[in-house]
Amino acid sequence: MASSDSAADRVDVAVVGAGLAGLTIALRLAEAGLTVRVVERYPRPGGLARVLEIGGEPIEAFYHHLFTTDSSYIALAAELGLEREIEWLPSRMGIWTDGRLWDFGTPQSLLRFRPLRWPDKLRFAVSTLLLQRRADPAPFENVTAAAWIRRHQGERVWQRVWGPLLYQKFADEAEHVAMVWLWGKLRLRGASRSRSGLGERLGYMRGSFARLVEALERRLDTLGVPLQLAEAATRVEREGDGFRVRTRTRAYAADRVVAATPVGDYLEVAGHLLEPPEAAALGALRATGALCTVLELEHSLTPYYWLNIADPAMPFGGLIEHTNYIPRERYGGRRVLYISNYLFPEHPLFRAPKREVLAAYLPALRRVNPAFDESWILASHHFRAESAQPVVTTGYRQRIPAQRAGVPGLYLCTMAQIFPEDRGQNYAIAYGERTARTVLEDCGIR
Ligand SMILES: Cc1cc2nc3c(=O)[nH]c(=O)nc-3n(C[C@H](O)[C@H](O)[C@H](O)COP(=O)(O)OP(=O)(O)OC[C@H]3O[C@@H](n4cnc5c(N)ncnc54)[C@H](O)[C@@H]3O)c2cc1C
Repeated sequence: MASSDSAADRVDVAVVGAGLAGLTIALRLAEAGLTVRVVERYPRPGGLARVLEIGGEPIEAFYHHLFTTDSSYIALAAELGLEREIEWLPSRMGIWTDGRLWDFGTPQSLLRFRPLRWPDKLRFAVSTLLLQRRADPAPFENVTAAAWIRRHQGERVWQRVWGPLLYQKFADEAEHVAMVWLWGKLRLRGASRSRSGLGERLGYMRGSFARLVEALERRLDTLGVPLQLAEAATRVEREGDGFRVRTRTRAYAADRVVAATPVGDYLEVAGHLLEPPEAAALGALRATGALCTVLELEHSLTPYYWLNIADPAMPFGGLIEHTNYIPRERYGGRRVLYISNYLFPEHPLFRAPKREVLAAYLPALRRVNPAFDESWILASHHFRAESAQPVVTTGYRQRIPAQRAGVPGLYLCTMAQIFPEDRGQNYAIAYGERTARTVLEDCGIR
């Protein structure tokens, strides 16, 4: 039976979820003088940016880096005294196709990329450059990436470059993804490159991105915001003009509730409060899940940080060798390889135990590097996230979930609202700030 806190424990706002969005919301509301409480399902905050340790050093469970355009992240890092801890380092990108590795992502590498013929290369290069210069997303919102690329860059470019990339992120929804998603990615990438003036440089926090999460935790502590960890909200109920947030063992009273969670979790705990059309519209949104296997290796698998796998016969979509970007000495000399696979949670591999997933992956790793041997694996870790990448289809703007729910005092801040940009730590913070402003406005605080 859930026991209730005393009346004095009632807070102005309960935030469900201690990912970057939830922590940012809690910070801004507490700074404005509201009483706030955060409940989080996991024993640690950080959500998708959570970490494990390798060689005594924290490292993300899911690979992470920043682009120079991630201004909200950089601003918050500066506010928390961490801006100088972000290192901007060169990275090397490759693609696996036609049974071999190719450099990718630079003009020189395109010249040498034989899977495309010369006319394809020219169309690809010119059209991608033009795309990066287009500032208005509107022309790309109601056309699929598949249709747009086939028309402007040709079937071969779709088959060899973009199609595999979209299949790796969106599985069987790839053909339905709107061009605006790809436009957003390319535009940011282009801007990130030109802003650094140094070619492709990606940002990483010395000591991992957990440092920003920890700094937020400390700041919340000084503001008197309790973080209830390992305590999933099980149900949000209406109580008078306010709410009661139930967990398995307790209940908290709050005048307002902000869910800073994936849409599915929000519907589970608060869906019963919504009008059926609102709940149905949210329920129709889809997201792929992420399956991420982290290998600690004795030797390097490839020379690349980021390797896209453009081959449907391979059982994963990307190989991210973190220690080709960040020095391996930080991880006790071990090489760290992420095997990335975006799948819908219904896929049989999604819930398979680690040993089965590894058994499916090892022969493919040997294809990428024939010298690879299982004995290279010093340790392995396996992570899954049910909701990792919202599927942005045509006409998505009309389906973006509202911040204010139909029920007064209930709010949602979630990855599925991020548009036309793609999800990322930067936007979790930016949209968290935005949600906090909405709550403050409703409280009459400016
Ligand atoms: C494979 C992968 C690679 C990525 N790479 C990058 C990258 O390179 N760069 C980058 O910037 N971003 C990257 N991201 C994205 C980035 O991690 C996310 O966009 C960001 O962390 C999302 O923050 P959030 O707070 O919106 O959501 P989340 O991190 O999902 O946080 C939601 C929180 O809510 C909690 N929760 C859910 N339900 C309940 C409940 N009922 N009760 C209590 N708590 C609940 C969850 O446990 C979680 O902690 C990557 C993500 C993945 C999956």
